[in-house]
Amino acid sequence: MKLTIDLVPQTAWGNSLYNFYKQNKAWDWHKIKQKVFDLEGKKCWICGHAEGPFEAHEFWRYNHKEKIQKLVGIHHLCGNCHKIKHFGFWTETETGLEKLKKENLTKIELIMHFCDVNNCLEKDFKEHKDKSFKLHAWRSQQEWKTDFSWIEKLNLNVIMPNTNLNSF
Ligand SMILES: [Zn+2]
Ligand SMILES: [Zn+2]
Repeated sequence: MKLTIDLVPQTAWGNSLYNFYKQNKAWDWHKIKQKVFDLEGKKCWICGHAEGPFEAHEFWRYNHKEKIQKLVGIHHLCGNCHKIKHFGFWTETETGLEKLKKENLTKIELIMHFCDVNNCLEKDFKEHKDKSFKLHAWRSQQEWKTDFSWIEKLNLNVIMPNTNLNSF
């Protein structure tokens, strides 16, 4: 599947590069966004949609044995693809549902976007969703260390959170 749900474990909420720069009042997040635009153009990295605004999403890989969540990439996504990534927030929390309403969107429309991009049926979505939520529940019971070393690959002059710390 091109577009998947990727829920961040509750125990790792806030451990993002975006939050790190926000807390440190650094403009480095914008430097990273610009670099990603330079490398990939102004379009959704997943579905190719060419109309902004685009939101930079942090992609993570989880090492279940060592309990490390490792940043493996940052790409710009359209609003719909990005909402699928954080489907739990947008469709199962009060704040998310309110925001969704403000954007004149519904859960059904998000599911339709998922099925369009993946060329699949609603039952495939349901299967994928159940699997992701189950995984999320398990991951939310583990403590995660966060590895941000990927950022060095961008060759930018940005401040770095310490690698392998679980908070900053
Ligand atoms: Zn998209
Ligand atoms: Zn995101």
